[in-house]
Amino acid sequence: MKRVGFIGLGLMGGPMAANIARGGFPLTVFNRDAAKAEPLRALGARVAARPAEVAAESEVVITMLSDVNALRQMANGPQGFLATAAPSKVWIDMSTVAPAHSREMAAAANAAGWHMLDAPVSGSTGPAKEGKLGIMVGGEREIFEAQRDVLSAMGSHLYYLGPQGSGTLAKLCLNLLVAAQMASLAEAMVLAAKGGLDLAPMGQVIRESGVVSALIDRKIGNILEGNYAAAFPLKHMHKDVGLMIDQGHLSGTALPLTGSVHQLFTAARARGLGEEDLAAVFKLLAELSGLVTH
Ligand code: NAP
Repeated sequence: MKRVGFIGLGLMGGPMAANIARGGFPLTVFNRDAAKAEPLRALGARVAARPAEVAAESEVVITMLSDVNALRQMANGPQGFLATAAPSKVWIDMSTVAPAHSREMAAAANAAGWHMLDAPVSGSTGPAKEGKLGIMVGGEREIFEAQRDVLSAMGSHLYYLGPQGSGTLAKLCLNLLVAAQMASLAEAMVLAAKGGLDLAPMGQVIRESGVVSALIDRKIGNILEGNYAAAFPLKHMHKDVGLMIDQGHLSGTALPLTGSVHQLFTAARARGLGEEDLAAVFKLLAELSGLVTH
């Protein structure tokens, strides 16, 4: 079995790395906050003290980090994993970043003699735990084919989409739908409540209509229960919508709806809701409309 390294054991990376360990791959992990590595140690993983140590012990290094700054900090510099003299290792980055960031990372990887795939995921913490993520891959096809075993330990749907940056572009397009669905659900629920409707039957109407999606169904649950514990932290969706806007600028694509949604998530984050689930945009809209919530 390939020796796998995993860097970034947050809400998503933790369960994804656990599935690598359960898949029988010898695993070395690193997380900035070392406490999050303990559940992996319990599954038999070795816990490294530095990112470079992960690479020294692995043939494939997976990253699942917040953003491009975290990637730069983990990959580059003397303690970064790319510093490890190790030709022909493979880096699979599963974070949601911009296509331009994926290409920047690939150039750094290639300069260090590594191959790289951008391989962001669809699905939140539930599919991450179940090993049922969708994985959208950019990079060289042969490298993707050679990593099917590792990717299949984390995901049930693998998509090869084209050259470097194709996976992250697909991910941003998918999250555009997620952000817009969440924003429109929040507005519909606030409008209903302000007009005097009880939200439980309103939620039932939406859930039993043709408009429902798995996402909307779950987020109605969050709103009705007043439960905003993060499955997908709002700060990460705010980051993603910003990346969509940047990508629109680069490719000359008008994104009028996404522009409004970005303002909404900016305000929600500024209001202190960044660590809560993205469903917390409902709380912001409720407050703006003078609606008392949980
Ligand atoms: P998270 O729980 O906030 O975890 C973020 C990870 O990045 C943690 O391991 C964190 O380390 C690390 N990190 C952040 N800044 C760092 C830095 N400067 N140096 C080193 N490590 C750093 O986030 P998540 O929900 O797992 O998301 C990870 C990525 O997946 C994001 O790009 C997100 O957009 C994407 N994503 C999330 C979901 C979801 O539903 N949650 C779904 C699909 C994709 P510490 O533990 O030390 O803070």
